[in-house]
Amino acid sequence: MPTPPPRDPGVRLSFSRVDTYERCPLLFRFRYVDKLPSTPSPDLSWGSAIHAALEAWWSQKLPTPPPVEVLYRALYDHWEDTGFAEMEREQKLVWYRHARDVLARHHELYSANYRPAIACEQWFELDIGDDIAVRGSIDHVARTASGGLGIVDWKTNRRARSRGDVASSLQLAIYTLAARELWGREPEWVALDFVVPGLRVTVNRSEINVGGALARIRAVAAQVRNEVFTPEPSPLCDWCDYRQLCPAFDGDGPDVPGRAMVELGRLRRRRARDEARIAELERVVATYLGEEVALDLGDPDDD
Ligand code: SF4
Repeated sequence: MPTPPPRDPGVRLSFSRVDTYERCPLLFRFRYVDKLPSTPSPDLSWGSAIHAALEAWWSQKLPTPPPVEVLYRALYDHWEDTGFAEMEREQKLVWYRHARDVLARHHELYSANYRPAIACEQWFELDIGDDIAVRGSIDHVARTASGGLGIVDWKTNRRARSRGDVASSLQLAIYTLAARELWGREPEWVALDFVVPGLRVTVNRSEINVGGALARIRAVAAQVRNEVFTPEPSPLCDWCDYRQLCPAFDGDGPDVPGRAMVELGRLRRRRARDEARIAELERVVATYLGEEVALDLGDPDDD
C-alpha cells in the first residue's frame, strides 16, 4: 500500500503571532519557530500581575461590587519577581505601589455599575480553514445592559490609543469571531481598556472589520508556510532580544544594515512629505501669481 503524503501540520497563529510577523518576520522566526528564550522584563511581569488581579475581581459572582481588597490580594498573590530580578527593593516597591494605584482607580471607575463577567481569560481556538488555527484568550466578556455580550481587552500600556486604532484592532476582530464560535452570537461592542490612564475606548461591532482581519491572518499564514522570514528593521530593534543573531545588525558602527534601513525609511518618508508640501505651495503661488513666478523661485542649489 502506498504511504499517504504527510499531512500539512497546519499553522497555528494568535493575535500576538500575527502582530509579531507583521512587525518583523525574522523576529517571528526567532520567537515562535526557533523558540529562543527572551529576557524577562518588568513591564511584562507587571502587566501579568495586573491582569491576574482584574480577572480575580471581575470573576466574583457577587450581587454587590467586590471590595478593592480583592484586587489588592490578587495582586499580592500573583506578583512575579522574574522581571524585577535586577532591581533594588525600593525600585520594586515603586512598581508595586503603582500597580495598587492603577487597580484602585479601576475599582473606583467600575464598582458602582459592577456586573460579574460572563467569562474572564476565556480560551478559544478557531479553525478558519486552509489548515489555519487561531487561538487566544479573551480578558473580559461582559454582560451588556440589554443582555448581550461586550468584549474587553485590558491593556497596560501607559498611553491610550485612538478610537480609530481600536476600530482597526486585529485582536478585537479575532475576539469577535471567537464570540460567534463560543456563544453563537457576536458582541454588541468591543473595547480596549487602558487601565493605566483609566480609559476604556469602546466601538460598536459594526465598526470592526472581521473580513480584513481574516485576510491579514491568511496572508501571514501563507508566508509562514513558505518560510519567508526576512528581517524588517525598525526603531523596535533597540528592544529586540535577538539583535546579536540578526543579519541586519551584522557589523560595527552606525551604518550596520539594520540602522541604515531605519534611517533610510525615515528620510524617504520625510522626502515624500516635503515633496507633497512643495507641490501644494507651488499650486498656491501659481494660482495667485502665475505659473512663471512659481517656476522662477528656482532651486536654492542653482545659486
Ligand atoms: S533586530 Fe530588528 S530586524 Fe532583527 S530580528 Fe530583531 S526586530 Fe527583526
